[in-house]
Amino acid sequence: MAKILVVEDEKSICDIIVFNLAREGYEILTAQDGTRAYELALSDLPDLILLDVMLPKMDGFEVCRRLRAKGAQMPVIMVTAREEENDRVLGLELGADDYITKPFSMRELQARVRANLRRSAISSQSQSQSDTGERTDAAHGELLEVGELRIDGRAMDAYRNGQALGLTAREFELLSFLARFRGQVFSRRELMERVWNYTSLGGDDDRTVDVTVNRLRGKVERDPSTPKYIITRRGAGYMFAEPEA
Ligand code: CA
Repeated sequence: MAKILVVEDEKSICDIIVFNLAREGYEILTAQDGTRAYELALSDLPDLILLDVMLPKMDGFEVCRRLRAKGAQMPVIMVTAREEENDRVLGLELGADDYITKPFSMRELQARVRANLRRSAISSQSQSQSDTGERTDAAHGELLEVGELRIDGRAMDAYRNGQALGLTAREFELLSFLARFRGQVFSRRELMERVWNYTSLGGDDDRTVDVTVNRLRGKVERDPSTPKYIITRRGAGYMFAEPEA
């Protein structure tokens, strides 16, 4: 069962989250400040981190930024306050995979946790029967080779000319999905549903897709400002283009 690191300094909130996630069968670790969270994430390698933004010692943004800089690839869900809309985008830009806004229901939290664990290696077996959508070849642990890219489902990473790109779980899912259906344009809404596993409400969700695409381009493309793999189709969405030989 997946191991989740819950980072929350407000004890009453932390207790409720831990109680509800433990009941789902997850193994839970907790941290009450950013420094401890960072250390635990690197030493205990949780499968997912639920990361509050406002924390003592080091805030959630900085924890996320440092973990990604260290090459940590597990899904990170940022917990933001409703009134701080910019926090959501900033968190995604720093490498978070998703966010949830306070106050949230336990049902919403469980759905987000499941959606973010679903396609990571740990849950691939238990989720395979309930997964009704098409899965990417790479998500099956297979190998896709496109141009100078190799997308390796076993390693959950991609390589450009043999060099590991250090993709996060969400970046990997997005890349392998687009690459499998290359030449086909997907709207932000479709990507939300098929890569993030939940229904888009537009607005912020569209920005989630945009920010993640930009992050992915920063790793995959030689020149992210003139991408040759992940192409924007204005007014329509994104597609993976097979580069000309
Ligand atoms: Ca807090």
